[in-house]
Amino acid sequence: MSYDLVIIGTGPGGYVCAIRAAQLGLKTAVVEKRKAHGGTCLNVGCIPSKALLHASHLYEEAAHHFDAFGIEVGTPKLDLKKMLAFKDQAIEGNTKGVEFLLKKNKIDAHHGTGRIVAPGKVEVTTEDGSTSTLETKNIVVATGSEVVSLPGIEIDEKKIVSSTGALDLEQVPGHLVLIGGGVIGLELGSVWRRLGAKVTVIEYLDRILAGIDLDTAKQFQRILGKQGMEFKLSSKVTKAVATDAGVTLTVEPAKGGEAQTVEADVVLVAVGRRPYTDGLGLDEVGVARDEKGRVVTDAHYATNVPGIWAIGDVIVGPMLAHKAEDEGVALAEQLAGKGGHVNYGVIPNVVYTYPEVAAVGATEEDLKAAGVAYNVGKFPFTANGRAKANLMTDGFVKILADAKTDRVLGAHIVGPEAGNLIHEIAVAMEFGASSEDVARTCHAHPTLAEAVKEAALAVEKRALHM
Ligand SMILES: Cc1cc2nc3c(=O)[nH]c(=O)nc-3n(C[C@H](O)[C@H](O)[C@H](O)COP(=O)(O)OP(=O)(O)OC[C@H]3O[C@@H](n4cnc5c(N)ncnc54)[C@H](O)[C@@H]3O)c2cc1C
Repeated sequence: MSYDLVIIGTGPGGYVCAIRAAQLGLKTAVVEKRKAHGGTCLNVGCIPSKALLHASHLYEEAAHHFDAFGIEVGTPKLDLKKMLAFKDQAIEGNTKGVEFLLKKNKIDAHHGTGRIVAPGKVEVTTEDGSTSTLETKNIVVATGSEVVSLPGIEIDEKKIVSSTGALDLEQVPGHLVLIGGGVIGLELGSVWRRLGAKVTVIEYLDRILAGIDLDTAKQFQRILGKQGMEFKLSSKVTKAVATDAGVTLTVEPAKGGEAQTVEADVVLVAVGRRPYTDGLGLDEVGVARDEKGRVVTDAHYATNVPGIWAIGDVIVGPMLAHKAEDEGVALAEQLAGKGGHVNYGVIPNVVYTYPEVAAVGATEEDLKAAGVAYNVGKFPFTANGRAKANLMTDGFVKILADAKTDRVLGAHIVGPEAGNLIHEIAVAMEFGASSEDVARTCHAHPTLAEAVKEAALAVEKRALHM
């Protein structure tokens, strides 16, 4: 069998690329070494974490907030086993969905580990060790990323866990320490805090959520603090040793100084991910990688070896499922002779806690560094009617617009439904809209989206409800 393209990896990048290629008439195959399709995202990432965030949020609402609405439920009881089973169902439903879509689009799915033996040739080794070789015009590397740890810290997925282990803890830890105050740590930390753990975040930088607008990240940290999360910023963990009782951590000031000991029941190492290319045969065929191990591509996802392409977490850019998906679509369209393209200036970024954090486009720090003059329009949810009625007033919407042209350059939201609200601004930015365009668009009342309109009005200091 000879293919137009063979995609290695069926995460959001790979499976979406396969579907789009098949829609465009390309003879397509995928190779996946996991039992289930969907990659990190569906199996151990986006989907299970969001299922647990949803369930634990409802638990916390029932335990602490229903009373304010006149609903008495007593003290809710946690059945952790059942909650984890619910999360597993969410994984299964989604991975089965991908299997269905691959079949529906007549994509050949090969289970096994793919290795590029030459341009146009992918060897597949199945679990029982048997091999076969697929012939193809194009190979797409969509092998994603994997967890990294810190020197001196060994992840055992029991007491010292990665995000994968943190999705499956058998009991709620008394004290959970997060190493790293990034999105994955804060999301999973929120899950276990809601279920009863004391959570301490140890972060090397003097802030959480590196890369997110600083003002927004600070506000978010204040809110998480009010919820009970504790923060040790500008601190580095130099050692973590699992003991019978739990884990003993050695923590020093980031700039050096006296070490301190912190005791935890469970430690979640959430310090980032690295591109995954183990055993792919990239060196043998001469595919270039950068200093971080990412496959190097040009703007069209071509590697330096003709006929070999790469997308998703394994290449440069934010490690996000929707970025991988959009690259998959763009590449499939290019291979079919069309003009696929991703606008990297408009990729939303969401933290799915409560409240959520969502961002798109430039931060204030980006604009200052680039010397761009800008205006800020900011509107708090305390002044939004719907948020007030629903007792969801934490946070704000902030819109940044060019001082000369009024074009929207970025938006940053911390608040209820931020992950949905941000898309209005993403669409506005794709169309090159001004803050005036957003402000003059009629928004239904009473909605949280009115806070976006008010922030747009606030760019020229004419918010109505503030
Ligand atoms: C806990 C957690 C939560 C996250 N939450 C979000 C979120 O809410 N939103 C978001 O946008 N992103 C989230 N992410 C990030 C998101 O999961 C990744 O950005 C996304 O999965 C990247 O997609 P990908 O297709 O590049 O790679 P992956 O999803 O990593 O898929 C790569 C696939 O390739 C397979 N593979 C690798 N090598 C081979 C080989 N040699 N042969 C065959 N198969 C191979 C792997 O088994 C894997 O299935 C989260 C990540 C984690 C860990």
